[in-house]
This record gives sequence, structure tokens and C-alpha cells, in this order.
Amino acid sequence: MLLERQSFLVAGLSRSGSASARYLKSHGAAQVYIYDDVEDENVRAAIESLTAIGCHAVSKEDLSAVCEKCDILVLSPGIPVDHALPVSFRRAGKRIVGEAEIGVRALHCPVVAVTGTNGKTTTVTMIDEILRASGKKSIACGNVGKPITSCADELGENGIAVAEISSFQLETLYSLVPHVAVVLNVTEDHLNRHYNMENYIFLKSRLLKNSTESEYAVLNYDDDTVRSFAEKTKAKVIFFSTRERVDGGYIEEGTFCFRGERLFPVSELPLDGEHNLSNALAAICASKLMGAGNAAICTALKSFRGIRHRLQKVGELNGVTFIDDSKATNVDSAVKAIASVKGESVLLVGGKDKGYDYEPLFEKMRGSGVVHAVLYGENAFRVLNAALKSNFTAVTLCRPFDIAVRVAYLTAHKGQNVLLSPASASFDSFRSYEERGDRFIEIYKKLRDESTRVVPPAAEGVREEIYLGE
Ligand code: ADP
Repeated sequence: MLLERQSFLVAGLSRSGSASARYLKSHGAAQVYIYDDVEDENVRAAIESLTAIGCHAVSKEDLSAVCEKCDILVLSPGIPVDHALPVSFRRAGKRIVGEAEIGVRALHCPVVAVTGTNGKTTTVTMIDEILRASGKKSIACGNVGKPITSCADELGENGIAVAEISSFQLETLYSLVPHVAVVLNVTEDHLNRHYNMENYIFLKSRLLKNSTESEYAVLNYDDDTVRSFAEKTKAKVIFFSTRERVDGGYIEEGTFCFRGERLFPVSELPLDGEHNLSNALAAICASKLMGAGNAAICTALKSFRGIRHRLQKVGELNGVTFIDDSKATNVDSAVKAIASVKGESVLLVGGKDKGYDYEPLFEKMRGSGVVHAVLYGENAFRVLNAALKSNFTAVTLCRPFDIAVRVAYLTAHKGQNVLLSPASASFDSFRSYEERGDRFIEIYKKLRDESTRVVPPAAEGVREEIYLGE
């Protein structure tokens, strides 16, 4: 990319699109055009601040004329590669890149890259915290933390970029050569975008495509698909497993181990669930390969606080515990939540339909701690269908989220949990999984306030009042 001679069209002005435009503008690109077909206050604010530094905002009417003028399309991960805009660039034989591609080209330091269907943010954060506890200058970036382009200068030559890379980013990422590439797992997700599992698995394997004998691949031995990547990559393979002693990270006698060294007891990791043991092992392998000391690994992981909206205890109300796992946006992450949460739970499932097969979720529920499921959101009937096919009949269908949370609370008995682990995206009713998790917390707080309110005398004798929302 010859910045000073080329014109870019940045499509999609979310965090990463804005960062790309800013980077290109400040690094001498000939022209930077910006476009978003959404018109909300975030996009308006992005356009305002980017035009102030000399980017040109493009209207829908002018888009095709601008496309002809531009050499390179910078595509937001939110826009599919088969959308009309990238298709028109491809037809014209022009290059399409993502923010991650521009960022990787800007970096002068080694990269630890993490992909997988679930656990990326958790594992990236663990690696970043371990490396920083080891005195290294690392930054968590990519799909989490800062966009990669915003970290290049700060990292310089001596830093370490710990990059979370999603399958959406892998569609437009070509130049990445991670010193350590971590693949956590591949289970069904985003098939509404990637069409089939073969394509999705292929995209995930692209994290390793530029690796040579000089680099490392940290692979999950317990996941058949990920284990098979070892046969295709040229990188040196380090496995991790919660079940077997492998050449890499494993658990022996209840202790995290790396290649014969014993680190610390698994019971001291302050996160629930076998999946988090797996994430911790991946983080141990990656950080050992980047030169982290054992003391730093133990300190960082033993004090790891977890991340918002991932199996986070919100609070307790009349003996019922509320757990927010709003980030469980696919079936496997909800399956892991069910396996991890102690005791009995009323599960809240539903949201935007991504075309999943929900039957595995209900099959896992039989014999688990889930005593009842409240189904809400756009896909409630599809989920109900899967529940009935799996003979799981302890369900209530209640489409609005706010009421569903209240129904789940009223259904739960003392000592049980209300677990929000939706196995679905949030976009049917929310802007993001964060907004959905925050709403859950807000409803919990409202319920808590209502339950502490003094009952006025007129209402005495009313045994129970079910609030049905505004
Ligand atoms: P990602 O960044 O890949 O979406 P997160 O760390 O944000 O992953 O976790 C997303 C969801 O997946 C949460 O509900 C979390 O509890 C669950 N999860 C975390 N790690 C794993 C794993 N290794 N396997 C399956 N589910 C996981």
C-alpha cells in the first residue's frame, strides 16, 4: 500500500473503521473517503471528527462515483465480503483490506494472535496481563481493547501486540505472521455470514497460513478440528489440553503444568468452568513462548478477575443468584455455562437468530442443573421447537426480554440461579451483548429495589404482584 499515492474508501465507521481512517489520514494517504449506510448518533459523531481531520464523507448517491476513484476499500468487519460494495471492488480487481491488515502492516513488534469461536477475549486478556506482570510492554488489541492501528506507535519495536482476531477480520487479513498463533476451538457460529462449517473452519485456519518453522502454533488438543490444524501448519506446534499430558500445557494432579514444569493448583484460578482452565492453559503456553516467567504467570492468573458479561455474578435477591453471561452468543458458550455454573438454574435463552441448531443445548440440559428455561426474543419459537424435540418441556415462552427476566426470577426457587446465557446474538432488541447484559443488571437492581420497598397498607393481603412492564 503506497499511502501517499493511493485513495482509500473506508466503509463502516465503527471503532475500527474510524481508527483506520485516522491512521491512513495521519500517515499520508492521498485521499481518505468515509462511508456508512447507518445514520445514527455514533456514525454522525465519527463523520464529524473524521471530516475535521480532512477525510471526505461520502453520501449514498455519490458512492459509486467514489468507488471508481478509490484504489483500496477498507472494509469494517461488520460488513460481509459478499456485500455489494466489496463485490464491486473485487469485480474491478481492486484490493479489499480490513483494519487489522493495515494495523499488522504498521506494527514493528512481534504479535501473539488469538482466534477461536469462544474464549478469545478471556485468553487475550490473560496473556496481556501475564506479559505485563513479566515487565513486558504488551497491549491487548484487535477485536478487544484498542484497534491494532492505534497501538503501532506505542508498541514500537520492543512491545508485544496481543491481538484478538475474529473470523470476520480473517476475511480481509493477509499479511499477519504471528510469532505465536493461538487457536482455541471451532464450534458452530456465524453461519449466517460464513454459510457452512467448512468455510468457517477454513477462515479460522487462515491465522496460521503465513507461519513457518520459525513461528509457533498453540493448538487445543481437545478440539478435533483445531488438533487437525497441526497437520497443515508449518509452524512449531505446542498443544494444550485439560485432559491429556501433551507437549505443551496440561493439568497433572490438579496443577497447571507446562512442559514438565509445575505452575500452580487449578483450584487457585478464580474462574469457574473447564473452558476457563483451557483458556488459562492456552495463555500459559503463549506467554511462556514470549518469555514470561513462572512467577508472573502465577501472579497474573491467580488474580484474574474475569471479564464483564462472561459468567459474572451480578448479585443475590431473596436467595436467588443472578448470573450474567450475555456474551454467550452461540450454543457452545451456553453449553459451557450450563456445565460451569454450580447448583440449579433457570436459564434465559434467546435473541437474534443466527441459524443455529439448538438441540445440542437442550440435550446438554438433561441431567444438568437447569431446571427451567425461559425463552425470549426473535428466535423464541425456533428455540422452543428444539426444546420440544429434545423432550425438554420445562419451558416458558415470553418474548420481551424485560418480562422474561422477571419471569425467570419468579420461577426460580431460593438457592437457585437466574442464568442469562442466551446462545444467541443480541441484535434483535439491543445494540450489543453489552447492552443486553447491562439491561439484565438493571432489571436485577429494579427487582431488588422493589423487593425492599415498604408495602403500603392498601396492598396488604396481596400475596404476589407480577409486574408486567410498561
Ligand atoms: P470471545 O472473545 O471468543 O467471544 P469470550 O472470552 O468473550 O470469547 O467469551 C465468550 C463466551 O464464551 C462467554 O459466555 C464465555 O463464558 C464463553 N467461553 C469463554 N471461553 C470459552 C471456551 N474456551 N469455550 C467455550 N466457551 C467459552
